[in-house]
Amino acid sequence: MQKNMLEALRRIVQEVNSAGQLQAVLDVTVARVKDTVGTEVCSIYLREPTLGRYIFSATEGLNKDFVGKISMAANEGLVGQVGSREEPLNLEHAEAHPSFLFMPGIGEERFSSFLGVPIIHQRQVLGVLVVQQQERRRFDEEEEAFLVTISAQLSGVIAHAQATGAIFSLDAGVRGSASFRGVAGAPGVAIGHAVVVSPPADLYAVPRRRCKDIKEELDFFHECLDAVREDIRAMARKLSDKLAQEEQALFDVYLSMLEDNSVAIEIDELIREGEWAQGAVSRVMIKHIRTFEMMEDSYLKERATDIKDLGRRVLAYLQAANTGPVEYPQRTILVGEELTASMLGDVPTENLVGLVSVRGSGNSHIAILARSMGIPTIMGAVDLPFTEIEGSEIILDGYNGQVYFNPSPELFARFQAIYNEELQVSKGLEALKDLPCITTDNHRIPLYVNTGLQADIARSLDRGAEGVGLYRTEVPFLLRERFPSEREQCEIYREQLQAFHPMPVTMRTLDVGGDKALPYFPIEEDNPFLGWRGIRVTLDHPEIFLVQVRAMMKANTGLGNLRIMLPMISSVPELEEALELIYRAHDELVDELDTEPPLPMIGVMVEVPAAVYQAREFARRVDFLSVGSNDLTQYLLAVDRNNARVADIYQTFHPAVLQALQKVVEDGHAEGRRIGICGELAGDPAAAILLMAMGYDVLSMSATNLPRVKSVIRNISLTRAKELLQQVMLMESASLIKEHMEKVLLEAGIKRIATPIVELV
Ligand code: PEP
Ligand code: MG
Repeated sequence: MQKNMLEALRRIVQEVNSAGQLQAVLDVTVARVKDTVGTEVCSIYLREPTLGRYIFSATEGLNKDFVGKISMAANEGLVGQVGSREEPLNLEHAEAHPSFLFMPGIGEERFSSFLGVPIIHQRQVLGVLVVQQQERRRFDEEEEAFLVTISAQLSGVIAHAQATGAIFSLDAGVRGSASFRGVAGAPGVAIGHAVVVSPPADLYAVPRRRCKDIKEELDFFHECLDAVREDIRAMARKLSDKLAQEEQALFDVYLSMLEDNSVAIEIDELIREGEWAQGAVSRVMIKHIRTFEMMEDSYLKERATDIKDLGRRVLAYLQAANTGPVEYPQRTILVGEELTASMLGDVPTENLVGLVSVRGSGNSHIAILARSMGIPTIMGAVDLPFTEIEGSEIILDGYNGQVYFNPSPELFARFQAIYNEELQVSKGLEALKDLPCITTDNHRIPLYVNTGLQADIARSLDRGAEGVGLYRTEVPFLLRERFPSEREQCEIYREQLQAFHPMPVTMRTLDVGGDKALPYFPIEEDNPFLGWRGIRVTLDHPEIFLVQVRAMMKANTGLGNLRIMLPMISSVPELEEALELIYRAHDELVDELDTEPPLPMIGVMVEVPAAVYQAREFARRVDFLSVGSNDLTQYLLAVDRNNARVADIYQTFHPAVLQALQKVVEDGHAEGRRIGICGELAGDPAAAILLMAMGYDVLSMSATNLPRVKSVIRNISLTRAKELLQQVMLMESASLIKEHMEKVLLEAGIKRIATPIVELV
């Protein structure tokens, strides 16, 4: 085992991965681990989530008749010990341990040595993996390390199989209820039906769906298969004079894979059972890809790539012919592995009530868009078997980041009540629209909005925005198939400027890179958030930058409410270079236009740590600063804003973040500049109080959050806010600060809708 541990590990994980259903996953695991470690027994005890009991769930070496029939309490036996202490237990003589629990019948008494390791996924103990042996000896360190490694790798697969199993219970067709944890993306409760969207030709993202007419679906599949065959023959003909005979034979191999009827027959069978052709192709091809990936022989292993390619080709034909309009039910909840802005754009807004993305976190741009549109959203629901839930009823709890699948009538009623309460509260807040944002001791602080979509304009004005603190210009860029021309940009910008006139509109120059890729300008990097993004891209492409600022300034003629803001500035030379380009664009327009356009106010975003320390130098060169707390938090804390796995340490109330925010405002004021903040933090009522107390001159947030923030500020005095700030600046952790602020809001009678995390009824 020692020699080839990595290989053994890889093979086990692969095999377990392709096992599919939970019981098969467990059975394969125990069989392979037993063989690899060379022990006499391997078993898994799964933890039952509500009672916390450990159920004897799979075994090789003990009495299988007891599988699923016996269990022990969380604090019982050696298994309970491993689970509660969350660490391995390695014993030479198990029976002598005080926690040993004799379970008659399963046949453990013969085995003296015991090694148990916990199976942990996302900090939750899922179960315990145990190996046992007759010979009285301690398992050696290497065996222990192997078991810990395998258990860490398999926990995700087991969690996923458990989740899928909860949806498809074993008696076929009966669907259970289940809940899945994700990250809160946009607040609110949504009740609706899942529509699964997937990127084209991705075998792994095809939703399961029933076909309408089996005969038609079969014919359709065979037409597409023929088309792929013809494509491959054409490719072979085209390359025939460039390739040697041997190389040409590769195309024959390709064709033979398609001619090999077993694949087509398997796909036909699934279609005959009612699955639509795309789903059947995806399931069969994935199964074959996995089989080949597990082959020892490296030549055969490589064939997995060919099968993947063939599968994608067939899928592409099936999808291309299926381009009819997708039907979005009235209450559509859009679900996808990685939702994008353009997927959103396809759904009629009146039908869209919620979003669930398997990847990403609360600070992903799709979540920010969702917040600005007021659509409850769950991000990072990593265990959700998203391809399996098409058409099902689901509930989103956007406050706690939970997705409830196929809810029971009781659960449905509870969430319906919360939904109704939300409607009531937002009606109450509507009354605030025309009232000023002013504290009880007459401190006035303007509330601006962050915009991007066309739809944001009306929503913002409806909610009483006093200006735009951040117009994300990349949003209209994202929704196109090429860079918009100067004239097109000018029209888009003019619409924003006119809609809010005479209120100020702060337009940020193109901020792509990071997680914002334009489909027509792909940036592929290993570390995109530390790479070519924001101002770095546009300084390298002055032709893009100049066109953009010219379009902004042209759009501003006769209006004069434009402000320009520069993203991701991290040094003075970078800022000076950007300013030079803006002045140049202005000079060009002075020569070109009859009337001299006004030079707009220019500002810098403070969103990288270097900018915090150079706030004064930046402030001296521009008219205003605006903190981008989303990125600033990610860079200060070294936590990827998109990674659901570390979402809980992306702490917006982290003392280091608060100190940085305080420093920026003090330094900016020392240079006599106005300092704003346009990150999501400004839209959090508790944070808004602290930011106001720090001295921020303007808070810019999504339109959805604006009424809540206004209501909180109108209920507090600046003196009290400053007291609170003083208290929290002495606190040493984000959770303490958050708790303190929550308590204060509650005492002030400020109602925040928060749903309880509901146990499944
Ligand atoms: C920020 O980083 O806080 C910000 C406002 O910009 P974006 O979220 O678009 O990166
Ligand atoms: Mg940013």
